[in-house]
Amino acid sequence: MFLGHFGVAFGSKRIVPTVSLGTLILAAQLLDLVWPVLLLLGVEHVRIDPGNTAFTPLDFYDYPITHSLLLVLIWSLLFGGVYYGLRRGWKGAVLVGCAVLSHWILDFLTHRPDLPLSPWGQSFAGLGLWNSVPATLLVEWTIFIVGVFLYAFSTRPIDRTGRYAFWGLVAFLVLSSIASMAGVPPNVDAIAYTSLFLWLLVPWGYWIDRHRQPVSRPPTA
Ligand SMILES: [Zn+2]
Repeated sequence: MFLGHFGVAFGSKRIVPTVSLGTLILAAQLLDLVWPVLLLLGVEHVRIDPGNTAFTPLDFYDYPITHSLLLVLIWSLLFGGVYYGLRRGWKGAVLVGCAVLSHWILDFLTHRPDLPLSPWGQSFAGLGLWNSVPATLLVEWTIFIVGVFLYAFSTRPIDRTGRYAFWGLVAFLVLSSIASMAGVPPNVDAIAYTSLFLWLLVPWGYWIDRHRQPVSRPPTA
């Protein structure tokens, strides 16, 4: 899943408006941001296997550090803990921890059973939404569009940058998602290096957030 994780990042802003979009992108995408680094270090592995599922030609056969449920729970707690240590907001800390965990849950929905439950075990999980391209697109786009609208309506631009940087990111994500469906990557290094570029979306998120402000909502009595 790609767009869905960003949908979660955008939508989470509405829950705790003090958390920056950059932090939310980092949290919701953390596993996939560390993954290419471990691929290049030879710690985790992926195989190009066209037809592995209808949606992706990638066979995620070895990624226990970034994508095993047990370690993801630990990464979620650590990420929330670091946030609390830096910002002192427990609501924000819980939210960003949940955002890290949400990545595994959305991957669980889409991947075939290739997600390890523990880094050393032989039990794997995955509901296999990727076996159907229309179902994948429906679910992923729904999460993305809902998230984008939640962010768009719970914040407002304070200048032109706040408007264009935000919609620019939305357009960039949509185009990247379409491009990634267009063909089979030539080799694993190409996958890893392209995925490393996603790190740029974190500062992009902070940049957007500095140029928008939360819309104050009437208190829900
Ligand atoms: Zn993932």
